Amino acid sequence: MGYTQDFSIPEEDISAIDYWEQTLTPIADVNDVLKNIYNNPFKEQMLNNIPAGYPMKKAIEINSFYGFRNHPVHRMTIFHRGIDLRGKIGESAVTTGSGEIIDTGFRKDLGNFVKIRHCYGFESIYGHLSEISVKKGNYVKKGQIIGKVGATGIVTGPHLHYTLKKNNQYIDPFDFLFLNFQEQNLSSGN
Ligand SMILES: [Zn+2]
Repeated sequence: MGYTQDFSIPEEDISAIDYWEQTLTPIADVNDVLKNIYNNPFKEQMLNNIPAGYPMKKAIEINSFYGFRNHPVHRMTIFHRGIDLRGKIGESAVTTGSGEIIDTGFRKDLGNFVKIRHCYGFESIYGHLSEISVKKGNYVKKGQIIGKVGATGIVTGPHLHYTLKKNNQYIDPFDFLFLNFQEQNLSSGN
């Protein structure tokens, strides 16, 4: 004995760390979630009401992926519960699916953020915005502008942080960014 390894985060840093990175809450298996979407007989309607597609009006460019990473500000290995998308300050951030705005505001970890509840237990969160153009309680359509890309909160530069949850569990948003395109090829697969 006598050997212990301490993976805990130093006390003074805890308040500064992303709220979704403090503890490892359950993470849903993204493949099961995707399989359920593909098998849903109403998937065309479904894709309007769940997060599917890209939250900006431009080509996909990823700065930082979901999963364990060396945090650029905190300089320690933390689980990144979302994906960072390249963007310039002032570019439009749009919803990836219709839903209800259930929270907006500012957090040190997320900057100015918007949180949307969609159908089928999905939620999407958009962080580090320079401007928020929706209010809690608003209903938004897929593709609607919810704010502008920024660099608010703890960041090294402007980008859009994008988190997805399903039944209160975090999921990797990566495949969902392409879901609209995959939909077109579903019949030719298998
Ligand atoms: Zn991020």
